[in-house]
Amino acid sequence: MYWFYNLGDYGGLFYLFAIALMIWSFIIQGRLNRLVKKYSDVRAASGKDANTCVREMLSANEVYGVTIQHTGGNMTDNYNPKNETINLSDTTYGKDSITAIAVAAHECGHACQAHSGMLMYKIRQIIAPVASVTSKISVWITIAGVFVMYAASKNYEVSNLGYNISTIGIVLYSVVFLFYLVTLPIERNASKRGLQAMKEFGWVSDDQLRAAKKVLWAAGDTYAVALASAALTLFRLLLMRGSRRR
Ligand SMILES: [Zn+2]
Repeated sequence: MYWFYNLGDYGGLFYLFAIALMIWSFIIQGRLNRLVKKYSDVRAASGKDANTCVREMLSANEVYGVTIQHTGGNMTDNYNPKNETINLSDTTYGKDSITAIAVAAHECGHACQAHSGMLMYKIRQIIAPVASVTSKISVWITIAGVFVMYAASKNYEVSNLGYNISTIGIVLYSVVFLFYLVTLPIERNASKRGLQAMKEFGWVSDDQLRAAKKVLWAAGDTYAVALASAALTLFRLLLMRGSRRR
């Protein structure tokens, strides 16, 4: 397995980043869970529930044809552009907490992005199906290529083939990285739209708005972690392959 762990001169740097990322991810997840829980118990000043707020935000943005549905689980809220539904989870659907309204307004932000024809959103819609396929195979293709490189190190042609196979794997993984790269600004933008609506329509008090911002920003940080993680995986694949043909 030497070929698998040998990352060359920058191996130490990779493991350092990996440990830092693990700690960062742990801190961010902990903070998000804490904030979500804390503000799930605080009722919004307006007394309005998440569904009412979403309907208000949709009509203010002149977005029609989007329906609100109840979906099981916690923090499973999402906007599905295929059937144009805003899916709200157990802790959001019909609930009037700050967390519920913030999360619902964020998902509604995605519906508004889709309907306003936001370029970044369109790009993600194109990349998403490709990335979902390449995320499953790219790492394995790279590993298989590197394995061939090492196993046939004495045979130049076969080893070279291994190098090329691993390069294909790395290119395929780049699509996954690209997906996370466009996802982060889309998520931040959806939160901005949500917070803007919360402020404009007065669903919450000023203090509550600050709390909602904390919750949505903490949730957005998990996408920053995902992006960093994808960058690190790409770095690892590049190190595994090495820059020289064997
Ligand atoms: Zn989102």
